[in-house]
Amino acid sequence: MIWNETIECMEREDMQKLQSLRLKRVVEHAYHNTPFYRKKMQELGITPDDINSIDDIVKLPFTVKQDLRDNYPFGLMASPMSEIVRLHASSGTTGKPIVVGYTRKDLSIWAEVVSRCLTAYGVTKNDLVQVSYGYGLFTGGLGLHSGVENIGGTVIPMSSGNTQKQIQLMHDFGAKALACTPSYALYLAETIRKSDIPLSDFALKVGIFGAEPWTENMRKELEEKLNIKAYDIYGLTEISGPGVGGECECQNGTHLWEDHFFPEIIDPVTLKPVEPGQQGELVFTTLTKEGMPMIRYRTRDLTHLIYDKCDCGRTAVRMGRILGRSDDMLIIRGVNVFPSQVESVILEMQEFEPMYLIVVDRVNNTDTFQIKVEVRPEFYTDEMNKMLTIKQKITNRIQSVIGLQPDIKIVEPGSIERSMGKAKHVIDNRKLV
Ligand code: ADP
Ligand code: ZN
Repeated sequence: MIWNETIECMEREDMQKLQSLRLKRVVEHAYHNTPFYRKKMQELGITPDDINSIDDIVKLPFTVKQDLRDNYPFGLMASPMSEIVRLHASSGTTGKPIVVGYTRKDLSIWAEVVSRCLTAYGVTKNDLVQVSYGYGLFTGGLGLHSGVENIGGTVIPMSSGNTQKQIQLMHDFGAKALACTPSYALYLAETIRKSDIPLSDFALKVGIFGAEPWTENMRKELEEKLNIKAYDIYGLTEISGPGVGGECECQNGTHLWEDHFFPEIIDPVTLKPVEPGQQGELVFTTLTKEGMPMIRYRTRDLTHLIYDKCDCGRTAVRMGRILGRSDDMLIIRGVNVFPSQVESVILEMQEFEPMYLIVVDRVNNTDTFQIKVEVRPEFYTDEMNKMLTIKQKITNRIQSVIGLQPDIKIVEPGSIERSMGKAKHVIDNRKLV
């Protein structure tokens, strides 16, 4: 099923026409109502008259997270506060929070794009959706919430936490879909396994997972453990929230709703667009936002775009899995390491629980690279030799994928902290020095 076939399956040429029209309008709006954007455009010697088609987007200046911080809290609003009906703030994974404001129309567009995602996952008005993303300033909870209501489904506004109750109600109410971070889904799966309710008693069929990077191996793990189909949902506070894009039944890339959020991929060093299909930093321009439009916002998320028509029939551009944020990348002894690479290896090995914590430090001017992992109870033994063999096996696997030898520390099952929201996979003690 497709929620908005006209848009989701629009011919590229028509989409570009629509984007061109909307780009012109949003640039005018930003220029006339936000001194910040006007000044930046004046510095480049351009006015809205220079923007006549979507291809002109490259003339526009970039916006970065620091700009939002410098203009905290409301400096980037392009609508008067009397038109702003809701505020959200980012959870601040990487520093002090940033604030965004939505007009009534912004909220209805957000609900529209989440509706497209839900429909692509096979969720309909007859279904119950348990929203276990946090409610509050974080966009996850309320973002999904409005989408479910918009398609006429039944929303269970659980928010995160209270894991036993989550499971009880998911079972008793018969939720068909669960929306939360992949790491929390894992924790819920673990808790179900330990509970006295068999998995077969749940009506759950669909997982709506995002808000943090996750891997294909994590998808397999979640699909098996919860007996569901697990789909990606992508978004960020600055652009709207969850639902900037979502996967379809093909599970082969996340469709981005490019009639509202125009994506580009740039080289983060030269800031030039990359060759089509190449990996780089994702940049968005909001084409319809009133409250707080974002012009060429640098997400710092690393991915690539696929413009081929998808087997599902949608033409909306697809985004590959997010490798991570450029600021998640660790440089350890000169080698670039993404936590997602470590995750991928650990989830491939049946000896380990799908949990890990990377601890980096600097001792005698050399970086240390420790990875804490939990051996599954059925592989745990007092026989030193067997444990050493398992340890050697994972050390070799990581070394071959990353090119760096980790110091593997095997810890007791259950001892790595479980997350109810975005998981913390890295402790970098070097930053404290
Ligand atoms: P914060 O910046 O405080 O984490 P947000 O909730 O706005 O606040 O986080 C948005 C970021 O979360 C994205 O820029 C991206 O890095 C990550 N993210 C969101 N959804 C996904 C997803 N489906 N896959 C990978 N990363 C995601
Ligand atoms: Zn598709």
